[in-house]
Amino acid sequence: RGCLYLVPTPIGNLADMTYRAVKILKEIDYILAEDTRQTIKLLQYYDIEKPLKSFHDHSSEDRVAAICQEVGQGKRLALVSDAGMPLINDPGHPLVQALLADDLPVIALPGPNAALTGLVASGLEAASFTYWGFFPRHKSDQVRVLEAVGQAQATAIFYESPYRVKDLVKQVGQVLGPQTKMVIARELSKLYESFLRGTQTELATYLDQESLKGEIVVLIQGGHLANQVSDQVLLPYKEQVEMLMA
Ligand code: SAM
Repeated sequence: RGCLYLVPTPIGNLADMTYRAVKILKEIDYILAEDTRQTIKLLQYYDIEKPLKSFHDHSSEDRVAAICQEVGQGKRLALVSDAGMPLINDPGHPLVQALLADDLPVIALPGPNAALTGLVASGLEAASFTYWGFFPRHKSDQVRVLEAVGQAQATAIFYESPYRVKDLVKQVGQVLGPQTKMVIARELSKLYESFLRGTQTELATYLDQESLKGEIVVLIQGGHLANQVSDQVLLPYKEQVEMLMA
């Protein structure tokens, strides 16, 4: 029976392909790739000889319908992006929706993803987290999103370009305050992997002196505003207790 495999690929270290991912890519009929030039390098490294076709979210509805038809006729295909888990800020969602609507199988393989890799080594709460994708560009959206981060007892995960990360840290200071714990995870799984862990003030001070290069995941401890609110709510009660104790 035909199906679409969602195959995660390395986020920087070519050795991070799973055995199963390599095996599936060797077995299937052809590969749908976000950027075929990027995927060719991976295929060469693992001696995988499969036809590649380009696929992205701007691919037409006709293209999506044609792929569904092929899967319906028994073709086994794989979708890969340039790096990491397909669909996670990468192409594929309309295709998965269309296949599921046609009752066709979609099988996701576990594997590399920058957000989770950064989260688990960040030292911030990892059991409860919110993934936001790229930090918004517009200031009003940034404030709205950071306020939501402040309300939720969950670590917030953002992708951001190294050129804008300084502004992101500044915004966190304004909306969530200087004591907010933050982590910048850089170049995960690569030669210059590094973690900057500290308060908003510490990270802002660092970024005033150094500029960052490479790929970045930003993690922010959530819940500051929620604590402030509950403190305010508790205040009259605290005062009452203090009065009673006096
Ligand atoms: N699908 C990918 C995943 O599963 O992580 C994400 C693709 S998104 C278009 C690319 C962004 O992910 C980069 O701009 C960066 O923020 C983050 N990223 C990807 N690889 C990374 C790495 N090795 N280290 C840190 N961040 C990375």
